[in-house]
Amino acid sequence: MRIAMIGTGYVGLVSGACFSDFGHDVVCVDKDARKIELLHQNVMPIYEPGLAELVSSNVKAGRLSFTTDLVEGVKGADAVFIAVGTPSRRGDGHADLSYVFAAAEEIAGAVEGPTVIVTKSTVPVGTGDEVERIIARVAPDKGIKVVSNPEFLREGAAIEDFKRPDRVVVGSEDEAASDVLRGIYRPLSLNQSAPVMFTGRRTAELIKYAANAFLAVKITFINEIADLCEAVGADVQEVSRGIGMDNRIGRKFLNAGPGYGGSCFPKDTLALMKTADDHESPLRIVEATVQVNDSRKRAMGRKVIKAMGGDVRGKTVAILGLTFKPNTDDMRDAPSIAVIQTLQDAGAVVKAYDPEGVEQASKMLSDVEFSKNPYAAAEGADALVIVTEWDEFRALDLGRMKGLLNRPLLVDLRNIYPSDEVRSAGFELVGIGKGRTG
Ligand code: NAD
Repeated sequence: MRIAMIGTGYVGLVSGACFSDFGHDVVCVDKDARKIELLHQNVMPIYEPGLAELVSSNVKAGRLSFTTDLVEGVKGADAVFIAVGTPSRRGDGHADLSYVFAAAEEIAGAVEGPTVIVTKSTVPVGTGDEVERIIARVAPDKGIKVVSNPEFLREGAAIEDFKRPDRVVVGSEDEAASDVLRGIYRPLSLNQSAPVMFTGRRTAELIKYAANAFLAVKITFINEIADLCEAVGADVQEVSRGIGMDNRIGRKFLNAGPGYGGSCFPKDTLALMKTADDHESPLRIVEATVQVNDSRKRAMGRKVIKAMGGDVRGKTVAILGLTFKPNTDDMRDAPSIAVIQTLQDAGAVVKAYDPEGVEQASKMLSDVEFSKNPYAAAEGADALVIVTEWDEFRALDLGRMKGLLNRPLLVDLRNIYPSDEVRSAGFELVGIGKGRTG
């Protein structure tokens, strides 16, 4: 099959590279000439484990190429995927669909014959209908069909998620278009029978938002239980284990922490609430989740301040981990931003280390001293705070850390350190939801 992928961000680049690895011919298109130039030099514009190797082997095999020229890119394509951004619209939280609509218009003008436009971007219910209206205006006679195929990959594990998904969802109102998608995903069903679920287009669009909202609710639920654990003297990690062993609940997404962030949950929960409002069908659980999560991030900054004795003016805090989760360089809506701002508002000096996120973080944070490694960050600091659970923070040399810190205080916002280990190394430890152990 010939595939064009419009947008080579976290989703488009991974999807395009994986499709080419399945054996399809893929052209990835992006307006950002810098990204395309980097890709031509085999330099990845984002950090995603395994991506550089995947891209370079498929480019060598002649199945994957990159261009800024959409007209050239979509030539002869059986399917054109839209994987452009859908950020929150400034002011009201609706999904900003301007990039999707602009891409749809350009594609409709550029394709020469029948093709399927596949929306991979996360878009509100009814967007497919609107894309169809654009096509009816721009290219009514070209035989273009519109399908929804939301993406569920997670940054940091994106290739594995794309190649071995729990499911693929295709929303289509047209049998011939469904067959094109069947053909594209056939390698998945041949390998290990990932279920490809066919449904209506509006239903597919809603599945993506309902999935993200449910996961946001689950995280926020355990975060509130963590607060209760602290109040009543219980241990949230054991509560998580105890409830997670119930198959109806499941173990995943029950790690208490500083609140969810990233490029999806915050904007997608907001956009879903707007859709619900517009249809006078409020989603009160999602509304509560958004509120609780919003206030949690600054509350984590206050938790650090409290652990340091309540007054941090002139004191130094070392932050380990800036990205919204490990194994990505993505800083969008990362909890670290609010934590750091809260500390700076209270007069603290902030030093920080992150394995991959510093380039993006430096554009979003001011007055932060970025360090070359965790030990350099800790030098002379009055507290060490783990915000993102990168693997390299799991086995820190605590003896060395203690020697570098002004005060051996570890605030572990991800509960990656067992309390006995940290305390026997001479540290004070503050975790999340650790009422029983202090
Ligand atoms: P991104 O911002 O990393 O990438 C979007 C890319 O699209 C950019 O490189 C931009 O230059 C390009 N672009 C915009 N308009 C264009 C046009 N007309 N022609 C060509 N290129 C254009 O975004 P992302 O994180 O990859 O997300 C894309 C979509 O996928 C969003 O709707 C998002 O909600 C959804 N999604 C993201 C993830 C994730 O983990 N990032 C997971 C699932 C779904």
